[in-house]
Formats: sequence, C-alpha cells, structure tokens
Amino acid sequence: MPIRLTNSLTRAKEEFVPLDPANVRMYVCGPTVYDFAHIGNARPAIVFDVLFRLLRHEYGDAHVTYVRNITDVDDKINARAAEIAANSGMSVEQARAELTATTERQYIEDVTALGCLPPTVSPRATQHIGEMIALIEQLIADGHAYAADGHVLFDVASDPGYGKLSRRSTDDMIAGARVEVAPYKKGAMDFVLWKPSDDATPGWDSPWGRGRPGWHIECSAMAGKYLGDTFDIHGGGIDLQFPHHENEIAQSECAHHKPYVKMWLHNGFLQVEGEKMSKSQGNFFTIRELLADWPGEVLRFNMLRTHYRQPIDFTFAGLRESWKMLERWYAVTEPLANPAPDAVFLDALRDDLNTPAAIAALHQADDLALAGGLGFLGFSNVQMKIAAKTEVDTVAIADAITARNAARKAKNFAESDRIRDELLAKGIVLKDTPQGTTWEVKR
Ligand code: AMP
Ligand code: ZN
Repeated sequence: MPIRLTNSLTRAKEEFVPLDPANVRMYVCGPTVYDFAHIGNARPAIVFDVLFRLLRHEYGDAHVTYVRNITDVDDKINARAAEIAANSGMSVEQARAELTATTERQYIEDVTALGCLPPTVSPRATQHIGEMIALIEQLIADGHAYAADGHVLFDVASDPGYGKLSRRSTDDMIAGARVEVAPYKKGAMDFVLWKPSDDATPGWDSPWGRGRPGWHIECSAMAGKYLGDTFDIHGGGIDLQFPHHENEIAQSECAHHKPYVKMWLHNGFLQVEGEKMSKSQGNFFTIRELLADWPGEVLRFNMLRTHYRQPIDFTFAGLRESWKMLERWYAVTEPLANPAPDAVFLDALRDDLNTPAAIAALHQADDLALAGGLGFLGFSNVQMKIAAKTEVDTVAIADAITARNAARKAKNFAESDRIRDELLAKGIVLKDTPQGTTWEVKR
C-alpha cells in the first residue's frame, strides 16, 4: 500500500510519490530557541518523527533527508538577550549566542526523551545569513523585492500565486498577518525580508546596511540549500500555514521559478484541558516539567492517540489513561531488538499517518507484532519500567502525613520538607488547611 497524505495545498489526501525515491526530502519548521519548549511544540516534533520513521522504513534509512531548522535570531530572542546582557558583562550578541545554544541543547534533550530521532540536518539561521542575503538579492534582481529605509520587503503584488496555500481573501490575510503599517511599504501585505539593526541589536553586514533577516526568509534559504529548489514534504503546525508558509512559497517560487514543495502537512493545535495554553492561565506546561513526572514514552504515546490533523485536548486524565495502556502492553509483550512492524499497523500509518488506527491495530496484534509496533513508534526496545506512579497507596500517604506532622511539631522542618517532597515526586500534593493536612494527586 502506498503512503497517502493530506496535502494542505490541495486540501486532498494524495498518494505520496517522491520526486526522487533515492532521496526523499522533508523540511519541518523547528523551534525558536529562547526558552524551554512547551507541550504544544512537542506535537510537530513527534508527528514528523513518525513520518520520518515511516519514510525511512519505506525508502531506506539512507534515502530520506529530514531538515528541521533552529531559529536562533528573532526579536523575542533579542529581547531576552538584551535582558541577560543588562544583568551580566556580556554583549547582546554574546548573550544571544549563549541563550540560543543552551536552549537548543535543552530542546534536543527534550525531544530525544520523547523518542524523536535526530533530523538529518538541524541548520541554525545565523549560520546561513549569506544564503539569505543571496536569495534576497535574487528577488530584488527579479523585481519581487525592494529596498526601502534600511529594510528589504517582498512585493506581494508581484507574485500572482500569492495566497494559494491559505486561500484567504486579502482582508483575512491582512488581519491574519497582523500587518504592520509602515511608510516604507508599497503594499499592506508586503513582508520583511531584511531589517536594520541598531548597535545594541544583533546584526550582520549586508548590501542594505547592518541588519538581520526577517523570519520567513530563513526557511526558504535553508530548505533550498539542503533540499534543492523543489522538494517533497514541508511540515509544521497549522498556525504556520499563514503567513509563514505562504511567504516561504512566495519567496522560493519567485526566486527559482519552480514549485517549492509538493506536499504541505500541518499538525493541529494542542490545547490544555479545553483552553488555549497560556502562562497567565496557569495551564502552560513545558516538556521539561512534564518529563519530571511522566515517562517520555507516555507523553509520546498520548500525543499519537489523536490523529495529527485534529486538535488535541491535552488532559492529565488522558495522560494517566495512556500510561495505563502502555503498562498493560508491556505486561504482555517482550520487546525485540530489531522488531519488524506489523502489516496492519503499517498500513494505518501509510493512510495519512493514522496513528489512532495504528494503535488500535496494536491492541489486536500478537506479542511479536506488538513489539514491532512499539519499536516503530519510537519506544525503547528495552522493557520500560513504568512505575505505577499514579497508583495511589492511601495507607502509605496517611502514614507519611502523620510522620510529617510529627516532624513539624518537633520543628524538624528539614524532615517535614523531605517527606513532602518525597510525596510530590510520587505525584501527591499535600495541602495544609485549618482542618488538617489533605492530599491530592497532581494533575
Ligand atoms: P515556535 O517555536 O513557536 O516557532 O513553534 C515551533 C513549532 O511548534 C511550530 O511548528 C508550531 O506550529 C508548533 N506549535 C506551537 N504551539 C503549538 C500548539 N499549541 N499545538 C501544536 N503545535 C504547536
Ligand atoms: Zn519555517
């Protein structure tokens, strides 16, 4: 059975036919590195890792190139770097370099814990400024971009194909892009390819003065460098479809006069307990903090129980259920060193990465095929020791609370804190109330 994927460009499920089966090429927009990645950022990492693994299975490990970039220059990064620089002896550029290197390392640790293979290439934007400048120069030479006031802008009116991915009206596009009104712009939709940097902002020399790239141009430049003018698959979260991916298409197709990407894939958004994740709502979770309480396998498996195109409602009840499901499987299966995936399981994945159907196939499979499936999902081949952290032993908790209260009475706060932390590590949160100490299972 061939692989079929839903192409956002055509809005249809299409058979995947690589341009060159000896080199299947995929680009996925990676993280902007200035802080720990959140559980929503984990979704494209996991979804496209499953696709990467499926492509490697079908075409051979050596015949798939997966590029996932690192955005290490950006105004949010620069703002954070300026804060760090103000509180240390570092220059803003030094602070930027250090912040992004540290955050990139953390990101790699996090997604590795989620069972994701390293991409073939993980290019950093700041190491491709030359390629971006060359691409911008090409666009200017062809009449698709113009320099104005230290900026270079893409001239949207020069591109008759603009809007083909998002299929929005101009009004919707203007609203969606949160268009900045600026005197140097010819058209409201024109977007920045290059912008000037003052002395206190990271910047690079260019034909238009010292400055830095706009966000969209980095992906066009790096995808072009590692995958060629036209490649097979481009992925990312649905929020990137417009304007980011629309603008990537415009830049690359106007510069190269060739189709940029055959198939666009977008993962749906993740919400937490039915709400948009936000720091002010208190429902914002980094991968790192979740990994303290939940095995990476459980987080990954939980994510894949929903089809990648659907929105996910991330809940702790769902996580606990996922943990239980994995525990039950591990109780009946013997993981193999080099498992061969089960045919039903594989066909489900070939059908637009239908991971819920693949998981259902695992439920039906015998032990051997089951292990194969688990390996394919990125789980370790060594039997996981998934401790029943969420199984509550109420008697043990009551004993611990009694011991803690005794310690507090004796003003032995080191001991009372130790007991509280020990329970917390097991997912039990203590609450001291006027009526006494109560406990609950951490969500
Ligand atoms: P960023 O670091 O914000 O550029 O995001 C990195 C990747 O995570 C992009 O592919 C985004 O589309 C994706 N992403 C961000 N937030 C979410 C979310 N809540 N659910 C699913 N994907 C997300
Ligand atoms: Zn991108």
